[in-house]
Amino acid sequence: MGAVRKIKTKRRTRDYDQVRADIDSPKHLTQYKATKDAEDLPGLGKHYCVECSKWFESEYNLVAHTKGKNHKRRLRLLREEPHSQKIAEAAVGLGTDNGLRQQETVVDMED
Ligand SMILES: [Zn+2]
Repeated sequence: MGAVRKIKTKRRTRDYDQVRADIDSPKHLTQYKATKDAEDLPGLGKHYCVECSKWFESEYNLVAHTKGKNHKRRLRLLREEPHSQKIAEAAVGLGTDNGLRQQETVVDMED
């Protein structure tokens, strides 16, 4: 008992790629907000941090949050390059052959 680690879904925020889409496209964000009922949200959904995908009870709480550690960490993560298939392939040595290596691998057979 207790050995299985469950993924906590209650506190789960949106994935970074979703948040990036929110930042790039206000329409995307509006569509996401439309899936929520304002009456169920803290502060009736008026105080929202786009980067963290969180609602706050008041403007004061939101401002305090944007100055906080969690928010800044989130901003830093969002600035980093999104993961892509190309990066994943590069990590295992695939797909980034740009031909420069050829010069190094020429074997000198004169001996
Ligand atoms: Zn935030």
